Amino acid sequence: MLKIAIAGAGIGGLTAALSLHEKGFDVRVFEAVSRIEPLGVGINVMPHSVAVLYGLGLEDALEEIAIRTRCIEYRTRFGHLIQSDPRNVEAGFEAPQYSIHRGELQLLLLKAVRERLGPDAVETGKEVIQFSQNTDVVTLHFKDGSSFESNLLIGADGLHSNIRKQLHPDEGPLHYEGTMMYRGATKTAKLADGLTMVIAGNHDLKFVTYPISEKARKYGHALTNWVAEIRVDQPRHIEDADWNREGTRDFIAAFEGFTLPDMNIVEIMRETHTVTEFPMVDRDPINFWTDGRVTLMGDAAHPMYPIGANGASQAILDARSLADQLAANPGPGGLKAYEDIRRPLTSRIVLSNRQSGPERVLDIADARVTGPEDKVEDLITLEELEEVAASYRTIAGFHKK
Ligand SMILES: Cc1cc2nc3c(=O)[nH]c(=O)nc-3n(C[C@H](O)[C@H](O)[C@H](O)COP(=O)(O)OP(=O)(O)OC[C@H]3O[C@@H](n4cnc5c(N)ncnc54)[C@H](O)[C@@H]3O)c2cc1C
Repeated sequence: MLKIAIAGAGIGGLTAALSLHEKGFDVRVFEAVSRIEPLGVGINVMPHSVAVLYGLGLEDALEEIAIRTRCIEYRTRFGHLIQSDPRNVEAGFEAPQYSIHRGELQLLLLKAVRERLGPDAVETGKEVIQFSQNTDVVTLHFKDGSSFESNLLIGADGLHSNIRKQLHPDEGPLHYEGTMMYRGATKTAKLADGLTMVIAGNHDLKFVTYPISEKARKYGHALTNWVAEIRVDQPRHIEDADWNREGTRDFIAAFEGFTLPDMNIVEIMRETHTVTEFPMVDRDPINFWTDGRVTLMGDAAHPMYPIGANGASQAILDARSLADQLAANPGPGGLKAYEDIRRPLTSRIVLSNRQSGPERVLDIADARVTGPEDKVEDLITLEELEEVAASYRTIAGFHKK
């Protein structure tokens, strides 16, 4: 049986492990951290990626913890509704979109991997520093001096991927957009209908919020995830960007001019216990992911600005495609077939996210709506708004049935 090693037990690596195991491959996952803990805050998983997770039999487990996102509301900083973009099954999608705590999703996937592949399928404390390969075997070399042989290697080792560095040694630094993202999650009263994601402001000063715990919702309150994005000119941690770095709170004052009728965003941010900061970074699309018996997936393959809920969603779609292509062609040819499908699609998303993706409607409105008395419908047509949403649905690959 073909032996496949995966570097990285993040959302992408674990979904790939489940998908490849389902196709009958012998899979082992190696994770750098010594203990997988529920780190990070909220993420969204789009309908087409949720359908992949449902296909892996995870529907009941997801329903217990994740919120079915009803819609995304784009608003001006004065609170006007610019556009409401439905994301639920009632609107015609094959599965719901979920708002979920990233760490809880990772632990849910880890549990399923250990139950299905065996308790030793994921080894922690195993940082892959490099690989070597010949015509039959690829050898992973770990920081602790040990090594492991397999037939194929999947680099699912995230934004700072060592596998990518070996494949593309001259790539240079991460691409920084100039915006910092401050994030947190805090218990609040239910906001709006308790199922909506709100994105308000413009490209340079933006507030995003959505609830992430179905359990909290059942008890009548909300675990509210928020992200405040602000353009900054002082130097920041870029090359060592870390999702868990604690942030300062001086950015909050910039949001005092936001007047959203149903939430006090300044209070929500001030009351949050832990605030983290992360730079808006990505990388230019690269001209190959696969070299012989080695390929990349997820953030290692196509790091992108976290716009349009694509980070985890595209990693999940990579996993599905990888398993399908390897089942049809179990060897380096299957890796190449996977890359031929996924690399062009994800490269387009990376580039579209640099132009704000579906959030372009915020900037269209910001340029025309100058005060609370203005009426959005007098200044922007519905067709203009739907054109942005529809073209992004095509790029990100999710459609109504
Ligand atoms: C700790 C953490 C917190 C995050 N928090 C958020 C968040 O709050 N919101 C958000 O939108 N996105 C967050 N992300 C990113 C988001 O999870 C990813 O964009 C998305 O899920 C794509 O998944 P991935 O599997 O490609 O990468 P990731 O989810 O980043 O997973 C990569 C995995 O590989 C491991 N790894 C790294 N290097 C090596 C190595 N050399 N050898 C072996 N293993 C290695 C990492 O520890 C990690 O577990 C976070 C990522 C991490 C690692």
